[in-house]
Amino acid sequence: MPDIIQLLPDHVANQIAAGEVVQRPSSVVKELLENAIDAKATNITLIIKEAGKLLIQVIDNGKGMSQTDARLSFERHATSKIKKAEDLFNLNTKGFRGEALASIAAIAHVDLKSKQENQELGTHIKIKGSSLIFQENTSTPKGTSIAVKNLFYNIPARRNFLKSNSIETRHIINEFQRVALAHPNISFSFYHNKSEVYNLSTSNLRQRIVAIFGKKTNEKLVPINEVTDVLEIKGFITKPEFAKKKRGEQFFFVNDRFIKNAYLNHAVTNAFESLLSNGYFPTYFLYLTVPTKSIDINIHPTKTEIKFEDEKTLYAILRSTVKHSLGQYNVAPILDFERSASFDTPYNFKDKKSDTPKVTVNPDFNPFKSDEQKATKFPYKRESTEQWEHLYTGIDIQNIEVESETVNTSLFSEEKITSKTYQIHKKYIVSSIKSGIVYINQHLAHQRILYEEFLENITVKEAMSQQLLFPLEISFNKDDIELIKEIKEDLESVGFLFDKILDDTIIVKGIPVTITESQITIIIEQLLEDIKNDVPNASFSQLDIMAKSLAKSLAIKTGTKLDLKEQEEIVNKLFICKQPDMSPFGKTTFVTEAIEEIDKKFNN
Ligand code: ADP
Ligand code: MG
Repeated sequence: MPDIIQLLPDHVANQIAAGEVVQRPSSVVKELLENAIDAKATNITLIIKEAGKLLIQVIDNGKGMSQTDARLSFERHATSKIKKAEDLFNLNTKGFRGEALASIAAIAHVDLKSKQENQELGTHIKIKGSSLIFQENTSTPKGTSIAVKNLFYNIPARRNFLKSNSIETRHIINEFQRVALAHPNISFSFYHNKSEVYNLSTSNLRQRIVAIFGKKTNEKLVPINEVTDVLEIKGFITKPEFAKKKRGEQFFFVNDRFIKNAYLNHAVTNAFESLLSNGYFPTYFLYLTVPTKSIDINIHPTKTEIKFEDEKTLYAILRSTVKHSLGQYNVAPILDFERSASFDTPYNFKDKKSDTPKVTVNPDFNPFKSDEQKATKFPYKRESTEQWEHLYTGIDIQNIEVESETVNTSLFSEEKITSKTYQIHKKYIVSSIKSGIVYINQHLAHQRILYEEFLENITVKEAMSQQLLFPLEISFNKDDIELIKEIKEDLESVGFLFDKILDDTIIVKGIPVTITESQITIIIEQLLEDIKNDVPNASFSQLDIMAKSLAKSLAIKTGTKLDLKEQEEIVNKLFICKQPDMSPFGKTTFVTEAIEEIDKKFNN
């Protein structure tokens, strides 16, 4: 038999590597911004077009590259940041793999200009799908500008896989915010389709947070400061009364690198304890500094997860530091903050051998697994659904008009629910049907009803809207405002009416008839969050996400007592739905039990 193994050509290897490094436009943004920071830039500009699908450009005033380096930077494993394996344990840079530019160049059109301080002329390079188109001298300012165009132009499957512009933009804004928050001493600007999204001048941390999240944030921030032998913590938490029904604004940075860590997140949430009502999340911006030697971030290319070996110690310090700050700012009951023995324990490092926290590589890490699969490993994964349910005590559904009396789905055409209905356990509506019994889950059934109603309103564009007597002002972050602007038309088609959309406030003058004024803020917040997170099972359509989100927020809850009329209404409306048997999230809305089945149970 002939030998059959061959080495893959570089451009193929690069394309494969790109699959891991570049998942979507925001991955490119992250890599380019980090390169600019590693190059010691003090001023960085990000320009994107069409959510990065058309163009992602990063311009920095960093140290630039020599002609040879500029060409080499696109080779795989070409890096100036480490030389030997030990360097991995003493990293002071964001990058080290030397993979990003090679990967990006394999799947896009790249245009690079770069010049070092002492050079007369800079270098201009064009690369398309790993092949060099040209390299020539050019006059360009000190620093580097990299433009990445037509991402995934040669991988149609990937390109088609990209989400809507607003979702991809959201990912980019997230990356940008993380980098900008980690480096308040660098000035950043960010343009999308020529309009300015952020313009952040050099500042201190508080000013940077306020510049990103809006001026109303300032009064909410409680500073955190703690230095121990094993780590230093600084940053801010927000006062409990400003906790959100979404967990978007939670930031951990370890040595200026954004990380996600469910365990540490739990430490912070736990410190808030009873100060938060169920379903609310604290906002925080926490910066942990640990000795570089004790960190190994060489886990996977997107580098947001690090695992600390001595997580317990970190947990204890973090929890008590947050508690302490909450106490100092008189935002927690004083009793908690008597310096009791238990409170002091985490500080007893003098008496302990002070182990530096170690970070271990997760050998089971599989970048191809979905996030959800990975997350289940964490013991502290919060339940992501359901919690919002506690918030509502029930919605007055008496105002919903009964549209039709006839129940005409195929299943029920022969067996109309004519007999009386009963509610059991404030959860199910039960009724006798010709073939036996039907049990309807009131919450899921109502979700289906509302979902179809919203969809219909959206498509016929004639949602009923109720004018508010006094227009309502609601403040949002700048980036939430961006999102609201993008989905304004869709919001209008479900019945929202806006008077004005300002920089950090919206003025609402009309709302869908199905909601009450007190629910508006929470519903819009939930909606934005769902769009950002692209609710599981959602189709690609934003309108669909919106209809689902509203249905989820507004459906009567389990635990709500329903009178007869309300029960009938649910039953009637459910069975004129196009797909009555399933909630918009794919859960069964009703089950039936045939009389023969019941008979069998008596004949044993
Ligand atoms: P890494 O960042 O892991 O080293 P990259 O592929 O991102 O790998 O970059 C390769 C090399 O190109 C870097 O090590 C650096 O020397 C150089 N480089 C990339 N971007 C810039 C930049 N904006 N300014 C200066 N040098 C850069
Ligand atoms: Mg890099």
